[in-house]
Amino acid sequence: MTDLLFNLQIDCESTQFALQNPELGERAIRGLGEMLAETKTKGTFLVIPGDSAAHARIYEDLASAGHEIGLHYHPWIEGRSEFLGFEGPEAQRELLSEGIDRHAQAMGVRPLAFCPGYGSANDSTFGVLEELGFTHGLVSIPTRDLPQCACVWGSSPLDPHYPHRYNKSLVGDVNFVDLPPTIDPQSRMWGGAHPQDLRVELVDAKNHFYTIDKAVRRQLRDQTPLVQVHAVTHNIFEFNDPKNFRRETYFGIVEATRKIAERENLTFRGVTLAEMAERYRMEVPHQSGQTQELVLDVSGRAFAKS
Ligand SMILES: [Zn+2]
Repeated sequence: MTDLLFNLQIDCESTQFALQNPELGERAIRGLGEMLAETKTKGTFLVIPGDSAAHARIYEDLASAGHEIGLHYHPWIEGRSEFLGFEGPEAQRELLSEGIDRHAQAMGVRPLAFCPGYGSANDSTFGVLEELGFTHGLVSIPTRDLPQCACVWGSSPLDPHYPHRYNKSLVGDVNFVDLPPTIDPQSRMWGGAHPQDLRVELVDAKNHFYTIDKAVRRQLRDQTPLVQVHAVTHNIFEFNDPKNFRRETYFGIVEATRKIAERENLTFRGVTLAEMAERYRMEVPHQSGQTQELVLDVSGRAFAKS
């Protein structure tokens, strides 16, 4: 029986200066630890350097419980430039190297998973991530169109893939598995700039059901290498409170995904993003030089006939 892989990614940024609430961050990640245990699911905590310094011990406990810890990075939080996708390769390399060093200092290990703030990236980003030793993460947010955050993804792949070296929205041979969040590309928000995604805090569980259902049906129809659901949240909610609405929403998301898995005769498996990327690498072995075949339909153009 095929597996349905499920992950919750938590972007952790409770110490950033707009919030400055590490106590809330701590309650949130402790609450999430309980929720993940209760639902038998796994979390990937992607953490800004300020949060890893503040909560290193708790992250170590979460890692021993089978969860994954990686790097989340907003240049503006670090008092550097605004957005990663606005910078050239040298500046990106420098910013992220500093982030890696601070993470390693707090956690004792280099991060392998990465997510940039706002999904901000450009055509240099994936090559830089590969060079710095990152192996996987959430970088693209397909169809998100926020030029003001240097985040313009267009019709980038909806599913896990190796990105292109020179064009961030295409499939290519960068040795980094990009794992986009689960989205419904047809449901638009923010005046059309953002797709409805599986961000726990975005809508209620009933609404999320349709996003999950649509995404799973599409993957089965397209026979994608993995069948997967990738939910996202932040460590800024009172997840430790049993009556918290976001907590209930997460339980609802897991229940919905389990039901859909059962209906489709798939085995539900809670995994980290590292495990999801590993499964992708098994299904689609990485090969240098592989690129997406671009097929342009020019049949309607007179000049193409000659
Ligand atoms: Zn963030």
